[in-house]
Amino acid sequence: MESSSIYLDYAATTPVDPGVVHVMSPYFTEDFGNPSSVHRFGQQAETALERARRTMAVLLDCQAEELIFTSCGSESDNLALRGTAHRQRNVRDAQHILVSAVEHDAILSTAYALDRYHGFQVEMLPTDEYGRVTPEELRRRIREDTAVVSVMYANNEIGSINDIQALATICREMAVPFHTDAVQAASQLPIEVDDLQVDLLSLGAHKFYGPKGIGALYTRSGTEIAPTLTGGAQEFGLRAGTQNVPLIVGMAEALRITQSSREQHNSHFSRLRDRLISGVLEAVPGAQLTGHPTKRLPNHASFVLRGIDGNALLAALDLEGFACSSGSACKTGDPEPSKVLLALGLSRELALGSLRVTVGRLTQEHDVERFLVTLPRVVQRLRKVETSR
Ligand SMILES: *Cc1c(COP(=O)(O)O)cnc(C)c1O
Repeated sequence: MESSSIYLDYAATTPVDPGVVHVMSPYFTEDFGNPSSVHRFGQQAETALERARRTMAVLLDCQAEELIFTSCGSESDNLALRGTAHRQRNVRDAQHILVSAVEHDAILSTAYALDRYHGFQVEMLPTDEYGRVTPEELRRRIREDTAVVSVMYANNEIGSINDIQALATICREMAVPFHTDAVQAASQLPIEVDDLQVDLLSLGAHKFYGPKGIGALYTRSGTEIAPTLTGGAQEFGLRAGTQNVPLIVGMAEALRITQSSREQHNSHFSRLRDRLISGVLEAVPGAQLTGHPTKRLPNHASFVLRGIDGNALLAALDLEGFACSSGSACKTGDPEPSKVLLALGLSRELALGSLRVTVGRLTQEHDVERFLVTLPRVVQRLRKVETSR
C-alpha cells in the first residue's frame, strides 16, 4: 500500500483503535485459557469474557444474558433470521418472512435460502426513493403468520437511516419478532435496544474500529430462537464453539470508545461529509446523491455519476491514491449493478456509475479537499475515453 494513499472506505472496514489492540493483547498469550475450563486459566478467561459482555450490555441498555457472541456481522444476521424463522415456525406455525429490499447480502441471501431450501415464504418490503422502509408499507404487509421482520438500521451502500423505533413498534403490536442489522449503524448511531424497541440487533466489530472476525447478536429475553451452530453449550446454548476471548474483549472496548465519543466523532464526520457532498455535486456534472439527503450516516456520501463505469472509476481513483468503493461488494469484471440502487428505481445504466465515499476518525479536511480536486479530473478523463470509443 502506498503511504500517500488516502482511505475513504470506512464503511467497508475500519482500522483497529490502538487502545483496542492494547487491551486485547494479553488474551492471546498470558491469559489464553478456555472460558469453559474449570481451572484457574479457564476462570480467568471467563471473567474477561463476562466483563466484556457486561460492558456491551450497559452500552446497549440490555441484560448481559441477552448478548450472544458470534464470528461477524454476517453470522449475527444469519442467526437472527434463521434462528428466529425456524423457531417461530415450530412455536406458532409462522412461515412468512419480511425483509427490506435493500438489506445487506447477509440478510438477503439468507432469506432466499430460507425460502428456497426450507419452505419459508419470503416477501420483500419495498422502500421509498431513499431506500427507507415506511411504517405504512410494513403495516400493509405484516401478517399474523409473519415469523420475523428484518429491516436494517442504516444502509451500507447509500447511508440512509430507517426509523427503527416506528417499525419495531408495529411489529410489537403484532407480536412479531423484529430484527435490525445495525452493523453499519453502530459506529455512529445510538444503539440502546429499549429505545429502539427491537427484539434482535446485529453488530460486527470491524465496522467500529474493533477487530475483524467478531460480532454479536442482541436477543431480547423471551424471543424464541433456535441455534444455527450446534455443539457445546456456549453462549446460552445458542452458539456453540469456544469463545474468542481476545477479540470479544477488543470488541467491547471498541464499542465503549465509539459510543462514549460518538458526538465528537460525528460532528467531525458530518462536516467532512457535507463538504464532500456539496463539493462533488458542484464539481462533477451529472452527479446525483443517492440515499436520504439528511437522514443518513454522518460519515457517508454516495453518488451515481452519469456515463461513468463505477469499476473503472474506482481503479482510476486508486491509481491517484484514493481508496473508495462502489458501495456494493461488486468486484471488477462483474458488471452487475447494485441491487440496492435498482430497488431505489435507478436505471441499470445509472446504477453502474455508483461511487461511495466514507470518512472516518483518521480522515482530515485536506484529504477531502484533495479528493475534490482529483475526482472531477478523473471523471472528465473517463468520459472522454467513453465518447471517443
Ligand atoms: C459489513 C456489514 C455486514 C457484514 O458484516 P461482517 O462482519 O463483515 O460479516 C452486514 N450488514 C451490514 C449493513 C454491513 O455493513
